[in-house]
Amino acid sequence: MVLPRTDEPETRDVAGIDTIVLHCTAMPDWNVWETARYHTGPNHISPDGCPSIAYAYFVEPDGLLYRCLPHEIRSWHVGPWNERSIGVCMAYEAGDEPPPREQLKAAVDICADLARKLGLSAERVMGHRELEGTGFVIENGERVQRKECPGSAVDMSEFRHSVAAAIERPGGPGVMEA
Ligand SMILES: [Zn+2]
Repeated sequence: MVLPRTDEPETRDVAGIDTIVLHCTAMPDWNVWETARYHTGPNHISPDGCPSIAYAYFVEPDGLLYRCLPHEIRSWHVGPWNERSIGVCMAYEAGDEPPPREQLKAAVDICADLARKLGLSAERVMGHRELEGTGFVIENGERVQRKECPGSAVDMSEFRHSVAAAIERPGGPGVMEA
C-alpha cells in the first residue's frame, strides 16, 4: 500500500537524527490515509501541500502501527527541527482524556525501538509542544506556547519514563508498512 505523495520528498543523513517527536492528529477519527491526503493537499503547513505525510510512524487507537516513511526522508512536521528529527503520530483527537492504553503502549514501544536503533536516550523523545520554534516561541523574553501537541493529557515526563523502561526490554514492536 502506498500513501499519496506530491513530489520526490527531500532526503537527509540518518546519522544526523537526534530527536524523536511525538505528535497527535488532533482530529476525530482520522486514520493514516486521511492524514496523508491532508498533508499532501493544500494545508496549514503549505498552500501547495507537503511532499509526503509528515510522520514517519502512525499509531492507531488500538495500537496498530504503520511505518509511513523511511528514516532518510526529511518530512515537514516540526519546522526548524525537520532535518534532525523523526515524527511518531498518534491518531488521537486530544482533550481531557489521555489516549487509550494500547495506543500509548505502541507509541512508547516504537519510540524505544527508534531510540535504540538511532543510539539515542529516552531524554531525546520530545512532545511537539516542547520544541522551541514550533511548539513554542520566545518573544521579547517570554515563552509563547503555540501547540499542545501531542495533547495536554499526555504527560511527556511520564512518557519518557516509559520509553526508558522499554529501551531496557529486549525485542521490539511489530511494524506494518503503509
Ligand atoms: Zn504535532
